[in-house]
Amino acid sequence: MANDLDKEKYFTYLRSVKKSIELFREENIALQAELGVLQQQYGVITGKMTVTVEKKEYTLQQAAKFLESHDRNKREEVYKKIQDRRLQDTTQLNELYNQLIQKRNKEAINAGFENYRDYRFKELGRFDYTKEDCYQFHDAVKQHVLPLVNIIYQKKKQKLGLDTLRPWDIDAEPAGTEPLHPFKTSDELINKSIECFTKLRPFFGDCLKKMQELKHLDLESRKGKAPGGYNCPLAESGAPFIFMNAAGQMHDVTTMVHEGGHAVHSFLAHPLELSGFKEYPMEIAEVASMAMELFSMDEWNTFFDNEADLQRAKEHQLERVITIFPWIAIIDKFQHWIYENPTHTNEQRTAKWNEILNEFKDDVIDYSGLESYRSNAWQRQLHLFEVPFYYIEYGIAQLGAIGMWMQYKQNKQQAMDNYCNALTLGGTKTLPQLFETAGLTFDFSPDKIKVLMEFVKAEMDKVV
Ligand SMILES: [Zn+2]
Repeated sequence: MANDLDKEKYFTYLRSVKKSIELFREENIALQAELGVLQQQYGVITGKMTVTVEKKEYTLQQAAKFLESHDRNKREEVYKKIQDRRLQDTTQLNELYNQLIQKRNKEAINAGFENYRDYRFKELGRFDYTKEDCYQFHDAVKQHVLPLVNIIYQKKKQKLGLDTLRPWDIDAEPAGTEPLHPFKTSDELINKSIECFTKLRPFFGDCLKKMQELKHLDLESRKGKAPGGYNCPLAESGAPFIFMNAAGQMHDVTTMVHEGGHAVHSFLAHPLELSGFKEYPMEIAEVASMAMELFSMDEWNTFFDNEADLQRAKEHQLERVITIFPWIAIIDKFQHWIYENPTHTNEQRTAKWNEILNEFKDDVIDYSGLESYRSNAWQRQLHLFEVPFYYIEYGIAQLGAIGMWMQYKQNKQQAMDNYCNALTLGGTKTLPQLFETAGLTFDFSPDKIKVLMEFVKAEMDKVV
């Protein structure tokens, strides 16, 4: 049948179908079921983790808000409580991870692969890049992103007036600085977001307006509602839903804009004739949302009536964009080693983890005396347990988003056209083709990342 179809048109769709057939093994069915059950243990173990602060019990996520406190002693106290709580379950999580590694390795061997990494790359549909590309990404982050991370932390240290920056200082603001309040009600968040999107391109504003008309924007904070935000594409009307728990914070604006980028993507890809065509890879989906965050920064004056707050919001955004890269490289590099060496001991794993962690260490934060926490830090990364190897996508997409932003700063209309043209293709083209249509190159080599980071550095200098 495949021969009868237009080869070019169905190329990505067919290679995905073919992949699933090729990977299928009868003897893996039971193994995959076991893995499914086992993976859930991570959520069970970590979901029970709580700490008590000022006689009140908090989940670790809730307790993290104390890390923004002006009171440095309080920050240190809570930071250590969180880390100590994690340490209590080290053995249990080590055992769980060992079981997962063994079963995943077996799954890969059954399917005729040398190791789970190679199997998983295929399973994830990574047709357009290789492990070598990932190694390039790791090197590029070390060479060209870490210097920016150092600048960011150095500046933070100065702003806080500290002699040494400790891990519990990262999320703090100088005394007297109030949190940003970009909006009050969810209606205000919607209307300002529409205004912001319309200024970027009227079509973007229309997407949000249509969602509002259809009551597809559910932004109110309600008890029992899942935290964060997510965008849920709907096949029939083409209008996705956005759910979030908005509480008047800057974080809500970036979530709204991010999810709005995903929504625009859904609208643009909706006219494609097959639902399979609308299943685009994560590497391009997150370019849509992360680029929208960066584009929208130019219009954030919609949310602020004074320049100081606006600048602070932009500075935070760039910090967020840059400081995540080393962690992405660490988590990715660690997993390559894990599955290339599936028979390693816990001690070997810890030693390798520390080696990689130190390789990507900034020069500013003082980690002395916190070695046991550092050695254990990988256990907080859900992806290692639940969705192996699924993490570098964020790094690849963020590079794409920065590339889009660079175009935007050079030629706004052209950048918007490229953005829309690429997203309109849905999943009908390969990643290099989608990136090319967006005016980007699908390349994460040090030379390429150097250019992007020089651009970000210049923008950072403008902000402060
Ligand atoms: Zn997203």
